[in-house]
Amino acid sequence: MTRIPPVEPDFSGEPGAARSVAVIGGGPAGLMAAEVLARGGANVTLLDRMPSLGRKLLIAGRGGLNLTHGEALPAFLARYGEAAPHLTPAIATFPPAALVAWCEGLGQETFTGSSGRVFPRALKASPLLRTWLARLAGLGVAIRTRHRWLGWDAAGGLAFATPEATGTLASRGPIHAFGRSPPATGPLSLRPAATVLALGGASWPRLGSDGAWTALLPGVAIAPLRPANCGFTIAWSEVFRRRFEGQPLKRIALGFGGRVVRGEAVVTATGIEGGAVYALSAALREAIAAGGPVVASLDLRPDLSAAALAARLDGPRGGQSLANHLRRAGLPPIAIGLVQEALHAGETAPLSRLVKAMPLRLLAPQPIARAISSAGGVAWAELDARFMLRARPGIFLAGEMLDWEAPTGGYLLQACFSTGAAAGRGVLDWLSGR
Ligand SMILES: Cc1cc2nc3c(=O)[nH]c(=O)nc-3n(C[C@H](O)[C@H](O)[C@H](O)COP(=O)(O)OP(=O)(O)OC[C@H]3O[C@@H](n4cnc5c(N)ncnc54)[C@H](O)[C@@H]3O)c2cc1C
Repeated sequence: MTRIPPVEPDFSGEPGAARSVAVIGGGPAGLMAAEVLARGGANVTLLDRMPSLGRKLLIAGRGGLNLTHGEALPAFLARYGEAAPHLTPAIATFPPAALVAWCEGLGQETFTGSSGRVFPRALKASPLLRTWLARLAGLGVAIRTRHRWLGWDAAGGLAFATPEATGTLASRGPIHAFGRSPPATGPLSLRPAATVLALGGASWPRLGSDGAWTALLPGVAIAPLRPANCGFTIAWSEVFRRRFEGQPLKRIALGFGGRVVRGEAVVTATGIEGGAVYALSAALREAIAAGGPVVASLDLRPDLSAAALAARLDGPRGGQSLANHLRRAGLPPIAIGLVQEALHAGETAPLSRLVKAMPLRLLAPQPIARAISSAGGVAWAELDARFMLRARPGIFLAGEMLDWEAPTGGYLLQACFSTGAAAGRGVLDWLSGR
């Protein structure tokens, strides 16, 4: 098995080389690591393959930027399932309250919604990111965009494809703290004293995190990246798809594996997605992986009892059309369309039963590129308590590239911020020989 070549710290004589740290990946995890490091006195260079930083954070802002959740810490930590014991030290050290204080310290007031979800009042990420990048520039963090990490070169340096000519960082022109470097060409090799990798998962690859790093850590155990908080494929009829693609299913309940989740979903061209689906997506994904299609149960009127629905729907229809009859039960057109779809597919259950427990046959998770987040990543056994690769002293990891998953609700960003901070502290401890 190929092992990653060792990197010697750079004591080349450049001032501060012994405390030089490369942070690769400018998402929330990498940016938080950079902040902790710069505050701790490290000389930080943050590199990212994209022309600007925090692109996924900005997209998360389109949904209001659900930063974290207000529930008590034990319940909060339980959301990470099997990864909870590994994430607990990082989240306990930088918990939701600390994240809220940090956000407010950047001038972004927060509020907690009725569901316990915490958002910035601005309900977007751009003001937060702008102020954060300005703070990092003030702390002396050098930002290099359009620098794609390629792994280690033969001399053990970090290799980057860059838009500029070959050279050392010190010999390169001004630092672009707000993210847009001029186009350039040629490779770059860096030998920092320590490195933080915060390269993200593989969802929404056009935002930068494409999961290509999984090929760059030979000898390191990595659980395959899989879609998390994702939609699922359903073989809609052409008639149903054409009429209802893109339409929401509001105030529904979705059940699978003994769990029922109230919320919303959206019919897509190829299946179904949205909050209620995402909440069950880990269990659905694993059930499909274990043996093929699974059937979830969709309740189109969770607020009405089965008996009340049976009284309205299961008697004779008189001369009424099926659609009018279903309308009497308060069903919107998309729900009526679903019942008709089920009847055409040969379902013979009484109407009330179809409305309360519509069988939804899910064929496969939607591709990871469309998922909100990724499951899988670098195995916890590869890391020590400082988030440093055991096989590779001096290389620290943070964020979604680690092997955890969580539902939506602020748990994703919280874990990224907390592990970023933990990796930053880990580097400082390591550099100071602790
Ligand atoms: C539509 C959408 C909405 C979301 N909404 C929320 C929400 O409201 N709340 C929540 O908690 N979470 C949300 N998330 C999830 C959250 O945004 C991510 O979990 C989080 O951004 C991951 O942070 P990260 O720093 O680990 O990785 P990323 O944010 O993915 O950043 C990784 C960075 O690494 C860079 N990179 C990757 N490979 C290389 C390389 N080889 N060389 C150099 N740079 C590289 C990338 O360009 C990228 O900038 C949402 C996600 C999506 C897609």
